[in-house]
Order: sequence, then structure tokens, then C-alpha cells
Amino acid sequence: MPLNRRFRSVIRIGPVQVGTAPDGRGREKHTAACTAPRCGFCADYDSRAAAELAARTHRCPVR
Ligand SMILES: [Zn+2]
Repeated sequence: MPLNRRFRSVIRIGPVQVGTAPDGRGREKHTAACTAPRCGFCADYDSRAAAELAARTHRCPVR
């Protein structure tokens, strides 16, 4: 599922998008989400570095 427009600073690493968005409690969450259809990988992280690392190491089962 591609990231929606609430996310800013969206980058793409392979098939995975990483973006930052407010979590609604005054903090930010950093999300990595795979754009490949039927993959469904999507996870939130406390830091941008963790989200980008997850994107870089994602082994997409669809490809
Ligand atoms: Zn994937």
C-alpha cells in the first residue's frame, strides 16, 4: 500500500517507500511500506534510520 499524502519526506528504496507522518499524539512515526501488489509489508518505526534500514533490507516475496 503506497503511503498517503499525510506523509512527508517520502523516499523510495527499491519497492519500498519510507515516509514520516504525525502519529496523532504529538510525535512522529516513520513508516516503511512496500508498493508491490500483494506484498503487504508495512511497518512503523520510532526513528527514520530504523525505517530506512528496514526498507533497505526488505526481501520482497513478490519479486
Ligand atoms: Zn515487498
